[in-house]
Amino acid sequence: MEYEVVIGLEVHVELKTESKAFCSCPTTFGSEPNTNVCPGCLGLPGTLPAINQKMVEYGLKTALALNCTINPYCLFERKHYFYPDLPKGYQISQQTLPLAVNGYLSVYIEGREKKIGINRVHMEEDAGKLLHVGEYTLVDCNRAGVPLLEIVSEPHINSSQEARAYMEKLRTILLYLGVSDCKMEEGSLRCDVNISLRPKGSEASGTRIEIKNLNSFRSLQKALEYEIERQRAILERGGAIEERATMAWDEEREITYPMRTKEESLDYRYFPDPDLLPLVIDPQWIEEIKRELPELPDARCQRFQEQYGLPPYDAGVLTSSKELADYYEGVVSLYPEPKTVSNWIMSEFLRLLNAYNLEPHEAPVSPQKMADLLHLLKKEIISTKIAKQVIEEMFATGKGPEDIVREKGWVQISDVEALEAIVEEVLAAHPKVVEDYRKGKEKALAFLVGQVMKATQGKANPNLVNRLLKEKL
Ligand code: ADP
Ligand code: MG
Ligand code: ZN
Repeated sequence: MEYEVVIGLEVHVELKTESKAFCSCPTTFGSEPNTNVCPGCLGLPGTLPAINQKMVEYGLKTALALNCTINPYCLFERKHYFYPDLPKGYQISQQTLPLAVNGYLSVYIEGREKKIGINRVHMEEDAGKLLHVGEYTLVDCNRAGVPLLEIVSEPHINSSQEARAYMEKLRTILLYLGVSDCKMEEGSLRCDVNISLRPKGSEASGTRIEIKNLNSFRSLQKALEYEIERQRAILERGGAIEERATMAWDEEREITYPMRTKEESLDYRYFPDPDLLPLVIDPQWIEEIKRELPELPDARCQRFQEQYGLPPYDAGVLTSSKELADYYEGVVSLYPEPKTVSNWIMSEFLRLLNAYNLEPHEAPVSPQKMADLLHLLKKEIISTKIAKQVIEEMFATGKGPEDIVREKGWVQISDVEALEAIVEEVLAAHPKVVEDYRKGKEKALAFLVGQVMKATQGKANPNLVNRLLKEKL
C-alpha cells in the first residue's frame, strides 16, 4: 500500500530580549552558572511576575510575519510539572488563549509554492538546564525564565524535505525580524516533530509519534527519515502504531527510541496565572508594529527578480539570509550589473565564506572591495582567471584588489607588441598544430590560446590573444 506522510512541527524560539520574560535578570548566554537569577525566576515565595514588553513586541512581530490573527486578549497560564530544572514547579505558558492563531508560511519545493498552516504562536518561559557530571547532576537556572515563543504548525507537511524547508524558512524569517539569534547548536531554536502515516488518499489521521531533541537541520531530516521508515515497516507487515508515544532522537546511533507513552504522559493542570492579568493588546500598537515590519524574505526575493532581473534561483539564494541580501545590494549599488554581481557572489564569494566559516558582514571583502574587483575586470586590467585569484588573496590578506594586482604584478597584458612576440614563439614551437588548424581543425586554436596564456601565467588578455592568433594564422 502507498502511504502518505503527515508531519507537524512545534518550534521553540528563544527571544533576543535583554531581560527575562517575567523578571529583570539578564538573558546572556554562557554566564557562570546561577549568576543570572533572582528570587522571581528561582520561584521563591513572595515574588510577583511582571511581563516583559519586549517579549510581547517580538511575539507580535513574529505572529504578523507569519500571517497570524492576533487575539485581542490572551492569557498567561501555569503549566505544571515536576523536574529539577523547573524551580517554580510550573512554567508560565499560554494554552487556552494564545497570543496569535491561524497563520501560514510559504515554502518552495522545486520552484512550487506550498503554504503550511501555523496553528498558533504563544509566549512562554524557558526552563533551566541540567548538567550531568560523573555521578552528580548540577542545576543551572540561568536559562529559567528566558522568553520563548512556541510556533506550532498544522499537520500540513508531507515529507522530511518539506519539514526541513519549513524550519529553514522559519529561521530565515526570525533572523530577518531580528527577534532571535536562532542558534540551533546553542539551543535558541529547537524543534519537536509529530509524525504519522496514513493510506494515500485517506482523510483519517494515523496515530502520531512525537520526536524530541532535534538540534540541527540535519538531525531533523535524519530523524524524520528514520521514523517514516520505521512506521512504514510496521504498517506494511500488517501491524499498527498502537499508541501515541514520545520518542527521542539518538544523535550518535541515528535512531529514535521511546521516552514515554500516552499513559505516562503528563497532566499539566493548566490554569490562568493568578498573578498575571489577561493581556489586552492595543490595536494601535499592532498597527504600528505592522508598519515597521522589515521587508521579509519572500517579498525581497520577488523584488530582486523584478528590480534586478535576476532568475528566481539567484533571487532565492541571495535573499536566503538578510545579510547576504544586504551585501548583494551593497555591491550592486556600486557596480550596477546585477547578474554579474550575482554570479560572483553565488560562486566565489559564497565558496570562500564557507571555506573561512564567515558570515557576509565578517568577510574581509567589503561590498566596496568586491565592486572594485569587478571594475578591474570590466576595464580588462585583469582577466576572469586572475580575478578569481585576486578574490582568494582578498580573503586571505584583507587587502584591496588594486594593491594585490599591483604587488603581484597580475595586470593583464594588453600590449599588442608584447603579445605578438609571444604569439610568434608559440606558433613557431607548434608547427603541427598550426597545420591542423589551417586544414580546418577549429579546436587547434583553443590549444594555441592555452599555450599563450600559459606563457604569460594567465595574464594575457584572452580576446586580444584570439585576435592576434587568427591574424597570424
Ligand atoms: P499536543 O497538545 O498534544 O501537543 P497539538 O494540537 O499541539 O497537540 O499538536 C502538536 C503537533 O502535532 C502540531 O504541530 C500538529 O500539526 C501535529 N499533528 C497533529 N495531528 C497530527 C497527525 N495526525 N500526524 C502528525 N502530526 C500531527
Ligand atoms: Mg503542543
Ligand atoms: Zn530573575
